[in-house]
Amino acid sequence: MSGEMRVRIAPSPTGPFHIGTARTALFNLLYARANGGTYIVRVEDTDTARSTAEHEADILEGLRWLGLEADEGVVSANEERGGRGPYRQSARSARYAEVAAQLYAAGLAYYCFCTSAELDAERSAREKAKLPPRYSGRCAGIAADEAARRVAAGESAALRFRIKPGVVVIDDLVRGRVEIDAEALGGDLVILRADGSPLYHFTVVVDDADMGITHVIRGEDHLSNTPKHILLFEALGVALPKFAHLPLILNPDRTKMSKRKSQTAISDYRAEGFLKEAIINFLALLGWSTGSEDEVLSVEEIQGRFSLEHVQKAGAVFDRTRLEWINGQWIRKLTHDDLLARLRPFYDRAAADGRIGRPATDDEIAALLPLIRERIPLLSSAIELTDFLFLDALQHDPALLVPKRWEAATARAALEAARPLIADGIGEGDAPLLDAPDALEAKLRTLAEEQGWKAGDLFMALRAAATGRTATPPLFDSMRLLGRAAVLTRIDQAIAVLRAA
Ligand code: GLU
Repeated sequence: MSGEMRVRIAPSPTGPFHIGTARTALFNLLYARANGGTYIVRVEDTDTARSTAEHEADILEGLRWLGLEADEGVVSANEERGGRGPYRQSARSARYAEVAAQLYAAGLAYYCFCTSAELDAERSAREKAKLPPRYSGRCAGIAADEAARRVAAGESAALRFRIKPGVVVIDDLVRGRVEIDAEALGGDLVILRADGSPLYHFTVVVDDADMGITHVIRGEDHLSNTPKHILLFEALGVALPKFAHLPLILNPDRTKMSKRKSQTAISDYRAEGFLKEAIINFLALLGWSTGSEDEVLSVEEIQGRFSLEHVQKAGAVFDRTRLEWINGQWIRKLTHDDLLARLRPFYDRAAADGRIGRPATDDEIAALLPLIRERIPLLSSAIELTDFLFLDALQHDPALLVPKRWEAATARAALEAARPLIADGIGEGDAPLLDAPDALEAKLRTLAEEQGWKAGDLFMALRAAATGRTATPPLFDSMRLLGRAAVLTRIDQAIAVLRAA
């Protein structure tokens, strides 16, 4: 093995880019960066029935978006980097056949003529006897010349790798020493099906060997596969890579996070308005800790501190509240122009699908930024918070117009009394009160006091009347952005609604 460190991720394009794959990719990249290594992306598409070009594109696009693009390997549908490819398993069949032939020639693999009916019968017999599934090895003893003759005569045969008895030791960089008895590995392992197609445990080892992988860093769900891989590496006479198995990602109830039960697709998080910086920050903390209180870290800061020694063994709970908090922190850190640019597509999409009544201009979004920046956990939250500005006609929900402690009649009386204060011009020139929010606020507070209302209730009624919502940016800013005419029209509409209620 040369001194160069080489790590890889090996996603299977059988589903959308998964949060767990992103975490594995990040840890590999961080480890490579910390040690001057090369980070490789290999596509494991041997499962042809479930692999699709769309999933592959989603994974590659997600990696690119997060800044986890390959140094070497598959970059896009038409681009591979590096000289140890091809890096897609579907393009490597000839290589697998060649290595399988080597193992066969060395007597380390044999032809298995068992039909699927025979294997099923074996499996159910063991199941009835409450034994774990395990191939009996009944073709293991067929003499090589007889097997060769049967294959030449056209009999269908898979190729099985002989699992050597004994205890396999894994020196895992995260989990320490792990021992697994080969007895528990299910018996001799099919490496090529009867149709010649290779299986995962075999391809992964051939590829890791061919690509000079020095460190295999992957999810803990692969720990139990590792003995099979170690035995195959040994059979091929290749130096073992080091292994590091990362803790599982768990739901808050400590069940395994799976795509059936949880939101796991990176594209869904992106569509909700999580920033790539926040996702990277959060993923880094899924199983690794800084050893300090710092939680909001850029990828550069993480890179400077990352080590596998600080990766925990215990499962890492996916805490969405923490992710949203980190996202909110990152939103606050963006420059004005950057935040505007990232919000732009959210407003465009909202206009396209009718959640806001018309497109928002850059100037309009820019005016909103100081008001919403501290209030949005997600980019998409900006739409809910400000949609009232982009609606031509508001449909008031009478229930929202009446603050909890009030009757409809009180709400109506309050709006009627507040309206002239809002409509009137005051102070210098003709500047309406709305342009002098402190003065308007003072007047409204006095009104509330005179009437025996809580100012908060009055403001809530006004907020609901002007915006149709109970949560908005600050009331006076919201009204100022709406403009005098729209505010008065909406107050009048709200009064009419309450009169009819
Ligand atoms: N293709 C495997 C997966 O997606 C990767 C296995 C590995 O990293 O060795 O889970």
